[in-house]
Amino acid sequence: MTAQDEVRFRPCLDDVAAYKPGRPPERTDGRPTYKLSSNENPYPPLPGVLAAATAAAENMNRYPDMGAVDLLEALSERFGVPVSDLAVGTGSVAVLYHLLQAACAAGDEVIYAWRSFEAYPIAVQLTGATSVRVPLTEDARHDFKAMEAAITDRTRVVLVCTPNNPTGPVVRRDELLAFLDAVPSNVLVVLDEAYREFVREPDTVDGAEIYRDRPNVVVLRTFSKAYGLAGFRVGYAIGHPPVVAAIRKCALPFGVSQVAQAAAIASIHAEQELLDRVEALCHERRRVVGELEAAGWDVPETHANFVWMPLGEDTVPFAEAVQAEGVSVRPFPGEGARVTIGEPEANDLFLAVARTWRQ
Ligand SMILES: *Cc1c(COP(=O)(O)O)cnc(C)c1O
Repeated sequence: MTAQDEVRFRPCLDDVAAYKPGRPPERTDGRPTYKLSSNENPYPPLPGVLAAATAAAENMNRYPDMGAVDLLEALSERFGVPVSDLAVGTGSVAVLYHLLQAACAAGDEVIYAWRSFEAYPIAVQLTGATSVRVPLTEDARHDFKAMEAAITDRTRVVLVCTPNNPTGPVVRRDELLAFLDAVPSNVLVVLDEAYREFVREPDTVDGAEIYRDRPNVVVLRTFSKAYGLAGFRVGYAIGHPPVVAAIRKCALPFGVSQVAQAAAIASIHAEQELLDRVEALCHERRRVVGELEAAGWDVPETHANFVWMPLGEDTVPFAEAVQAEGVSVRPFPGEGARVTIGEPEANDLFLAVARTWRQ
């Protein structure tokens, strides 16, 4: 056998960095550990949601409803949009993968702000398309002027993350509308609103509204964060029928399990209770940010369930110091650390390190 006989893969895979999952904290002294590294919801499932999922598990010998009919109907009612404007997938990251697979090929360009969500570079690269990263402004916001300037004839998609993961600021309605007016109508603009429910800024953009008269805008939302279903993998897109049809063509058959569909439907029905928890987390976010500011930290304005610590070269030692207290955070070496707003006890352990950290 010669080297030429080796199994070959598409060259675009060569530079794909493996996704780094949030690290679970380890402790040997028996004290509790907390994970503030993956933006998960710290609350346990609501009893009604758990019961719906458990009941659905009785049918695990059957394939799920491939059309996710009941879930699409529940979403349709919730947002006042037709079912033909909705597609579901195994998390909104999966929906993004389907979208990019549908829209991009080698030679195409996808623009997004940077730093933003770590899944973007991987998802783009897997299609063979090229990432065009536009640096965030000094206050960690999207630089729409620069993003507009980055558009070329090869641009197929622009990804806009609001609130931006990992830095936290939202995209304002006026700045997004001005940007959309400048984007060619054949370029798809993806509005990733994974943290929409945590936003308390009245001037923020609402994708579910602004997509309505814009056929090149599609919105991604998820049950993973505010609704506490990260482990079940359910996300969805809201867009115009041609965009939704393209996503559905690329989706894996029977992707979203019946258990996940049942839990998502039950969560929509229990939305008020879940949003009360979100409100409590927003309250806790204000406390955490207030304490950081009182300790002299200058953090970007966050409207998500995390806060960005601009630590630069101190990022890794800081993450290790917090880890030593039993709390894992998400370090981006040389830049900063993203810290999820979790249980108050966990936030307190993180704050204790932040308060005494040299700045
Ligand atoms: C968490 C997150 C998602 C959603 O992930 P799921 O696949 O739905 O769990 C999407 N976009 C961003 C920016 C996120 O942080």
